[in-house]
Amino acid sequence: MKMKSHVSLSYNEPQAQSVVKEAMIKKLKSHNITPTQQRVEIATILFEKPQHLSAEQVLSKVNGNAAVSKATVYNTLGLFARKGLVHEVVVDPSKVFYDSNVTKHHHFYNLDTGVLTDIELDAINLTAMPDLPMGTKSVGVDVIIRVRNA
Ligand SMILES: [Zn+2]
Repeated sequence: MKMKSHVSLSYNEPQAQSVVKEAMIKKLKSHNITPTQQRVEIATILFEKPQHLSAEQVLSKVNGNAAVSKATVYNTLGLFARKGLVHEVVVDPSKVFYDSNVTKHHHFYNLDTGVLTDIELDAINLTAMPDLPMGTKSVGVDVIIRVRNA
């Protein structure tokens, strides 16, 4: 006897797509970002799941659906980061990732694979911190532990 398969809303079904689009428009607006079609497209890619994407990765994904220029992708990601929609993780000046998880956390960066993975905030215990420079306040500590395949 054949099992009845589950009916679930696939990401590609038009109805689910419009629900996702509505949610993205709302998200952009809540961060004071005007939801242009290209921004909505880029946000949809970023927030598909918790992930870390480079601008190049976003560019290649977005161009699967529509033609968006490299400059637009870079500018949009910069805007999203400034508005706090995504978190910018700078591994080194040539390796910048856009993190859809904006809660505070740390990262492992694998130099061999180029993959960034999350470390929960509580997993790193920072006990000895220096005095802050005069007239400053701390706004956050981001740790990147660089690893190689052993
Ligand atoms: Zn992360």
